[in-house]
Amino acid sequence: MLDPLSPVLALWSALLGACVGSFLNVVAWRLPRQESVVHPRSHCPRCGSRLAWFENIPLLSWLLLRARCRHCGAGISGRYPAVELLCSGLFVAAAAAIPAITATGSSLPGAPALLVLIGGWLLIALLLPMVLIDLDQLWLPEPLCRWGVLLGLLISAIAGFSQGDAPGRSLLLWHLLAASAGLLGFEATSALAQKLLGKPALGLGDAKLAALLGAWLGLTGLGLSVVLAVFSGALFGLLGLISGRLRRGQPFPFGPFLAGGGLAVWCLGNPFWLQRLSQWLGWSAL
Ligand SMILES: [Zn+2]
Repeated sequence: MLDPLSPVLALWSALLGACVGSFLNVVAWRLPRQESVVHPRSHCPRCGSRLAWFENIPLLSWLLLRARCRHCGAGISGRYPAVELLCSGLFVAAAAAIPAITATGSSLPGAPALLVLIGGWLLIALLLPMVLIDLDQLWLPEPLCRWGVLLGLLISAIAGFSQGDAPGRSLLLWHLLAASAGLLGFEATSALAQKLLGKPALGLGDAKLAALLGAWLGLTGLGLSVVLAVFSGALFGLLGLISGRLRRGQPFPFGPFLAGGGLAVWCLGNPFWLQRLSQWLGWSAL
């Protein structure tokens, strides 16, 4: 289904992804604390000692230091290398996703490969810190949402105009419509749930994240992402209740499911998910 990915591109994507993942760990820690993401340099949160270059290498440093600070011995969370590894894998997936996302009927049909590659990496770099912050604080950072919408519309505009024909020019309009639909649809659902249940069911951050996905994926891609998010979120909630890890009515963040759905749509393309969905619906109707 995916065109073969050259080993050189895969290797560079993996290395770049690990480095970006390392930076995103810093973003996810500092953004909610309103600290600058570039200054000061990385330091141990317990003893404050600056990290030398060899303590700052993605994945390797954590292994070499055996998950401990060299100065005070404080444990370093396994989340740091996990995020670096995840980002590395996602960057390779974004490189492999070029044929899927540019296919007819997908989000950016006929767009230039380089644009789609850089776009995919940017989307991952936006969504990963949002997921981490949502998991930590049940809150999605406003600036990342806003920049995410603008960047998604910019990529769609370049993709549309690079085709040079009339349907190409309408791509920006289509993605703008999807961003608005995402925002308004989620806000309306949230207001309705508030009326029916008497308590907030969706955060307003989720509406902004849906707007971001609409800007990047268009209307079909947004719809597929929401379907995937609802399915996986419901499955997670059900398993959580059965296993006793979630209490009835306990809120859990929906953002990670939306972001995961969005990335699944980006990496495999609309036609893949539309086909799967029609198969699942076909089976359940029998
Ligand atoms: Zn330390």
